[in-house]
Amino acid sequence: MAITPLMPVYPRSPVRPVRGEGAYLFGENGEKYLDFASGIAVNLLGHGHPHVTKAIQDQAATLMHVSNLYGSPQGEAFAQRLVDLTFADTVFFTNSGAEAVECAIKTARRYHHAKGNPHKHDLITFSNAFHGRTMGTISATNQEKLRDGFAPLLPGFKVVEFDDLDAALAAVDEHTAGFLLEPVQGEGGIRPASQHFIEGLRKACDENDLMLVFDEVQCGVARTGTLYAYEQYGVAPDIMASAKGIGGGFPLGACLATEKAAAGMVVGTHGSTYGGNPLAMAAGQAVFDVVANEEFLGNVRRTGERLRSALEQMLPNHDHLFESVRGLGLMLGIKMKTDSRAFVTYLRTRGILAVAAGDNVMRVLPPLNIEESHIREFVDGLSAAAADYDLPEAA
Ligand SMILES: *Cc1c(COP(=O)(O)O)cnc(C)c1O
Repeated sequence: MAITPLMPVYPRSPVRPVRGEGAYLFGENGEKYLDFASGIAVNLLGHGHPHVTKAIQDQAATLMHVSNLYGSPQGEAFAQRLVDLTFADTVFFTNSGAEAVECAIKTARRYHHAKGNPHKHDLITFSNAFHGRTMGTISATNQEKLRDGFAPLLPGFKVVEFDDLDAALAAVDEHTAGFLLEPVQGEGGIRPASQHFIEGLRKACDENDLMLVFDEVQCGVARTGTLYAYEQYGVAPDIMASAKGIGGGFPLGACLATEKAAAGMVVGTHGSTYGGNPLAMAAGQAVFDVVANEEFLGNVRRTGERLRSALEQMLPNHDHLFESVRGLGLMLGIKMKTDSRAFVTYLRTRGILAVAAGDNVMRVLPPLNIEESHIREFVDGLSAAAADYDLPEAA
């Protein structure tokens, strides 16, 4: 048999981690890696964080799962915490980012359905967006590599240029339900939307009774230096998907909504077997215990500025490779003049993990609790790798 037991849908690298400790991963044969990928913005507090680990261990021994047939003191408590800390009035818990976005799409459609406007079912989405790998979420992007071979895709999405307010407004018609976007595009290449764009979309939603839906699966949960990125724009969505970092490594997602936006989500309209089970809630609560306070968030902003300025000082020394740094907080991207995917692959051989993204960007997504020494190690390691890079590659 030629096919591998693990369905071969990923180009898996030779890095084979078996253990983690803080900002480091260790491979099968003891190789050590500085992990500035964080499982793609998931391991917010690095590996083996004692508070998160203990919360999961204790909850696993107490009660892991019961289903949503019963009352959920654990779910109520974490939902209340999210409601207290965000724009939202209500929360649906999922196991992944794509499911959180699916719930957001359904909530937006149901809002108009409940108001007697079922014809308002289209979401306007944006170029190079990434919302997940389900049929709904691949239908919400124009990225051909995500869609190829999966037709027929779902109707109800119209893709226009990201950060182009005029294009977004021009796409609105009598079928429009709202806009779905990442305020800071992640896999598309660490592209923060402009203030003008986000404000313009909010205004259009207010004037035309449309839903503003944010996908903060990657940029949410303290990554950008505020609990959610929308806070930095001073613009609240009606519906928001959160996941990745929210469980600190435990599979957890959430769809947050205002009371108004969730008007159609009544008993029987949605569900999930695992969603919000006691084990997942314990993980989420433990992450929030650590990150949801001004001291931690201020530290993320300061660390982000230090990392960014260290990178900005180093990059000109290798200006044949690097162009610039962009992003917010500890969600940074280095725009490269060469194939970022090949360079990220090379970096792994030097014991440094980062993540490639679209637009030839290398994503730098360290754990949020890194220290000065990790910044130095990363920047020095990156610089040394850049100095050596052309030699073996050009040979
Ligand atoms: C990763 C990601 C998703 C999908 O999350 P999964 O947990 O892989 O389903 C959706 N939206 C954004 C912005 C993401 O970065």
